[in-house]
Amino acid sequence: MVAVQLGPICGGIGGEIGDSVSRRCISQQKQGIGAGSMSLRRDPRTEPREKDDGFGLGDRCYPQLLDTSLDGELKSFLIDEDELHTYDDLTKVNPVTPSTVLKCLQARYSVKVFYTHAGCTLVALNPFQPVPHLYSPEVMKEYHCARQPQEFKPHIFVVAEEAYRNIQGQVEPVDQSLVVSGESGAGKTWTTRCLMKYYSTIAASSSQKCQNMIERIEKRVLDSNPIMEAFGNACTSRNNNSSRFGKYIQLQLNTSHLLVGASVQTYLLEKTRIVKQGADERNFHIFYQMMKGATEEQRKEWKIPRDQHFTWLPNADRTLEEDCFQDTVAAMGHMGIATETQGQIFQMLAGLLNLGNVTFCPSADESQPCDLQEEAAGFLRAAASLLHVSAEQLESCLKLRVLQAGKQSVLKPCSREECGIRRDCLAKLIYARVFDWLVAFINKSMCASSSSWCNFIGLLDVYGFECFVLNNLEQLCINYANEKLQQHFVAHYLKAQQEEYVSEGLVWSFVQYQDNQSCLHLLEGSPNGIFSLLNEECRLNRGADAQQFRTRLQRELSGNACMSWDTFSKQPHFTVSHYAGRVSYQIEGMVEKNRDPVPPELIHMLQGSQDSLLQSLFADGNADDSSGRRHTKVVTVVSKFKNSLESLMKILHSTTPHYTRCIKPNPECRPLTFKKEEVILQLEACGIVETINISAAGFPIRIPHLCFLKRYGLIANSRISWQSVEESEPEAGSDTVAHAVVAVLNEVLRCHSLEPLRYPGTRTHGSL
Ligand code: ATP
Ligand code: MG
Repeated sequence: MVAVQLGPICGGIGGEIGDSVSRRCISQQKQGIGAGSMSLRRDPRTEPREKDDGFGLGDRCYPQLLDTSLDGELKSFLIDEDELHTYDDLTKVNPVTPSTVLKCLQARYSVKVFYTHAGCTLVALNPFQPVPHLYSPEVMKEYHCARQPQEFKPHIFVVAEEAYRNIQGQVEPVDQSLVVSGESGAGKTWTTRCLMKYYSTIAASSSQKCQNMIERIEKRVLDSNPIMEAFGNACTSRNNNSSRFGKYIQLQLNTSHLLVGASVQTYLLEKTRIVKQGADERNFHIFYQMMKGATEEQRKEWKIPRDQHFTWLPNADRTLEEDCFQDTVAAMGHMGIATETQGQIFQMLAGLLNLGNVTFCPSADESQPCDLQEEAAGFLRAAASLLHVSAEQLESCLKLRVLQAGKQSVLKPCSREECGIRRDCLAKLIYARVFDWLVAFINKSMCASSSSWCNFIGLLDVYGFECFVLNNLEQLCINYANEKLQQHFVAHYLKAQQEEYVSEGLVWSFVQYQDNQSCLHLLEGSPNGIFSLLNEECRLNRGADAQQFRTRLQRELSGNACMSWDTFSKQPHFTVSHYAGRVSYQIEGMVEKNRDPVPPELIHMLQGSQDSLLQSLFADGNADDSSGRRHTKVVTVVSKFKNSLESLMKILHSTTPHYTRCIKPNPECRPLTFKKEEVILQLEACGIVETINISAAGFPIRIPHLCFLKRYGLIANSRISWQSVEESEPEAGSDTVAHAVVAVLNEVLRCHSLEPLRYPGTRTHGSL
């Protein structure tokens, strides 16, 4: 039975209204009106279902009587297995357990139904094959024009439309965030793109008057995707188009709720990929696009002959649909990047490819610089000419370190290994700056002036939880980001909701969930969290000895339940128990990665480049101050990442979130293949069963009293003292406001010849 439940104000006025008001009865002793909200409620965990409940469940069914094995559960399910695919919302499954939820999703997947509501979240199963009819502009329009999109089949467009309508909220439009999560290859980027298309399509159809402006903006918004994906995505062992950075896009809407601009914020580009790619993996798409799509003339200009093998371009023989250079170039053009500037960018990238083939051999005399390996000199010259610096300067920068001795500087030859590190550092530095420049350009091109927009819908697409055989600082940061998002989810849906029910005195048995606070404390706690300890090693200029850092970690964190140690491993490791699973991180190289040092001589060289764009990328100095002294303050990778995540969390907390959980049904990315073991792990990792339980038992619709009054107050207009209500603002939980809410509800009950709700003490409906 679906029921409107009213929670207590000051401890206990109450009643319930059934799904059809005329069918219900009031149970005044049980529940009351919530201080801040009114909601719809059903508790499938405790409420027996009956033959006519619309779920086709037959006789009564109590979870506690059920066999816990999957088959057992399904037998006790008392529903026809043939019907499982019809469950649009997992809150309707009874009982809600990992295996019943799994079975239901599998049944839906087998009939090509990919979206399912899970209470307050949407579960999206990746079909791994095109399903064009599901995303056509006609379907978008249907959802957009529907009176109640929620009544349509579950779809990402329901979420999109709900967020859009919230913005249009008559009372108080609030910014919205659509958080798309899931593991690598689950479909986050695909879903985000789909959402952008949806908003662009409805924007284009919304107004004839502003058609030109909207078309320009929505085109630019959509064109930002191929550019960012070309430069920020790569083929990995888990996804041919894996995003190697996180992004948060804000679609800016004006007072008429029209899309007038957008901005994008990116997080932690995996720049190491430029110089190191896992077995079977590739570098960023853009390099392959250039290699495949450049004209003969461009090839000559960029010194990338067709048959040339480039070390940093593994698996170049594999062709992907993402390899379309012309699409990227066209999108860059639409975004307003001049052809000449595009040429400068591609020259730099070609310079990096050539740089990757520069290798060194040790010098016979240690006091002398290393030699270049055979053929390397040609690549070095090519790289220098493409970066518009002198070949001599480039060679010297790679081979010689400048040491400051008082006012004098001394050149010290680097070892072969150090030369390689400096080469890699140069490449990562340039690529990261090019990426940042592109993001800044895209923002300039799409962003509306601050006075022309008032609300936004944010789309968050960050890398999913990662666990490889070898995990390093990048995975630690990525998994930290996922912990933060999970914490936001837990705080918003699982914790806050339940605490609110309890504080309002509702009858509520607390649903247990996995709180990841202790893991977050282990990572970000001060002074003894992993990040603080890492930063301290950087500050003290230590960390070359991994064993020493491990000993320190062990000393400081030995009692922490989320931390363990792999004593059998040859390399020093530590293992963190994340909410989504245990991950072992190798300590070797972690402190150095966190410090991410850039030799100042490299920056000086680039500042002197004859290429205006490259020069401008380094115009802000960064290595030395104007007096020539080096900056001593180390801004580490984790500090920067932690700060940017904190800003993101602040934004998320200020918006109404909508969660979509993308699920990867099989690790091979095979079309329409559902592997139960894979899916169940993902469901467990995101706490989907707890979410369903709380959503099912809780209040999916929660309207703050004041909003409710402003919307429905008219029903009992003459009975409400609007002046007192106005005066009670912002005290939403005040008696006056609550009385007015009850007046409205009682008016509805009166129309249906039902008994009015009563207040505690002497006050009754009639006294209002
Ligand atoms: P990563 O974390 O590695 O970036 P991701 O979650 O962003 O992964 P996507 O790149 O969005 O994963 O999806 C992987 C692939 O799955 C897509 O390239 C596409 O082929 C397919 N895919 C995802 N969602 C859908 C869908 N709704 N319909 C059809 N294909 C899809
Ligand atoms: Mg992605």
